[in-house]
Amino acid sequence: MKTIDKIYINGEFVTPQGTEYFDLISPTTNKILGKVLLGNQKDTQNAIAAAKNAFETFSKTTIEERIQYLKNMQASIEKRKEDFINTMVEEYGGTLQFATISYEYMLKSFNSVIELLNTYKFSKIMGESEVQMTSIGVVGIIIPWNSSNGFICSKLSTAIAAGCTTVIKPSEMSAQQTQLITECLHEAKLPKGVFNIVNGLGEVVGAEISRNPDIAKISFTGSTVVGKIIAKEAINTMKRVTLELGGKSPNIILDDANFSEAIPLAMAAAYMNNGQACIAGTRLLVPESKLDEVKSLIKNIAATIIVDDPKKETTSVGPMVSAKQYERVQNYIQTGIDEGAEILIGGLGKPEGLENGNFVKPTVFVHVKNNMRIAQEEIFGPVLSVITYKTEEEAIKIANDTTYGLQAYVSSSNEERAHKVASQINAGRVQINGIKHDPMAPFGGFKQSGIGREFGILGLEAYLEPKALIR
Ligand code: NAP
Ligand code: MG
Repeated sequence: MKTIDKIYINGEFVTPQGTEYFDLISPTTNKILGKVLLGNQKDTQNAIAAAKNAFETFSKTTIEERIQYLKNMQASIEKRKEDFINTMVEEYGGTLQFATISYEYMLKSFNSVIELLNTYKFSKIMGESEVQMTSIGVVGIIIPWNSSNGFICSKLSTAIAAGCTTVIKPSEMSAQQTQLITECLHEAKLPKGVFNIVNGLGEVVGAEISRNPDIAKISFTGSTVVGKIIAKEAINTMKRVTLELGGKSPNIILDDANFSEAIPLAMAAAYMNNGQACIAGTRLLVPESKLDEVKSLIKNIAATIIVDDPKKETTSVGPMVSAKQYERVQNYIQTGIDEGAEILIGGLGKPEGLENGNFVKPTVFVHVKNNMRIAQEEIFGPVLSVITYKTEEEAIKIANDTTYGLQAYVSSSNEERAHKVASQINAGRVQINGIKHDPMAPFGGFKQSGIGREFGILGLEAYLEPKALIR
């Protein structure tokens, strides 16, 4: 049993004033792993005050100094590889495969931010004026549990590049992962107050960050529902917001695609991160004439998907993060059945032998209509909806018939055709014949998938306020 009873304020591990504990429960066994002492409103205010104080000097640091801090952060994270991977597997239930990739991305996020700093011009000429891109102020970083330290690395590194100071509120379910990264960041010896980390509830710590007048900007990743609550509160003090919200990403397989490549890729896109991924390709759009071929390919691939203890190297789908998330996914599978969709693989209940954890059977529904709830709402579990189309135009129409617009996928053996289709999809990123992350390209959503962009120049500029000096 581990007890995490410290938060991080002004360069020190301190005991929060909050008195409430939250149990940390293994997604794999549902046994208690430990508990975390939660911070309260006063703790959050103290963290914000420390960040505000640090901003005075940190915003004046040179590019070289910021690059050195980023290198120090990366170096200390590099030393704890095994710990990062194992903690993510144990606490979150991410598979060993996923946790390893996720760790590599954490490290790489520092490289791309350093690369940006080496080329970005913080002073530009626009019209006849000098435009200074100034640090925006204290940034509140509010994040979910599905890639906790990945989000901390990408958001914090960008904030630091921009000369901002931060208060971070991770999900309380990620407390052990948070403890680990806090130790690394402490070792990196950043000036006191540049980063502060407060464990606590969204309605307490997150709400104070959204309300507090000393927070200039919020970078949030999470659900669309909570994103709207934060944005409404933020407007009272005119905080800038970057919101990375949910998705229901379409994956269009064009009739000329190589189906024996495109369908395995589609399954990987749907089940990545145990299906708990905002960018998961959860609506698979296939030509009506190819449905039988697609069904038999899916069945063959399903036989190779291993749902098991996430610690095992061979596991491709691990448990849902919590019993609550498991129930949510079960409810959606029931909804799909009630709506008249047909289960091709998977279905309700837990896979045999895995009854103790929050394991879901990877599920594929066929005969899904795009207006069904399972095609419109984010399930956040390994559930894929197959929808057929007759023409390319219809495929594009279905793809865009959603309130979301975070990511999309297109497969075709004709690059030019794929490019043309991709250009007509309303999504922040469209993946052509593959799944990749470009850390220099913008990431973010159209429509209710969010506001603003992260990564690359646009991501950096979201932490900067332009000031024109007109003479
Ligand atoms: P969530 O409920 O939206 O929570 C995200 C964060 O917001 C958590 O730290 C949460 O704290 C906090 N929060 C909750 N209520 C708040 C409030 N009233 N004020 C301020 N903060 C508040 O999301 P989740 O259930 O943890 O994660 C799953 C969701 O995240 C999915 O819908 C998924 O699409 C989305 N997501 C999006 C992206 C993206 O990049 N677009 C990436 C990953 C996940 P508590 O944990 O204490 O509630
Ligand atoms: Mg929540």
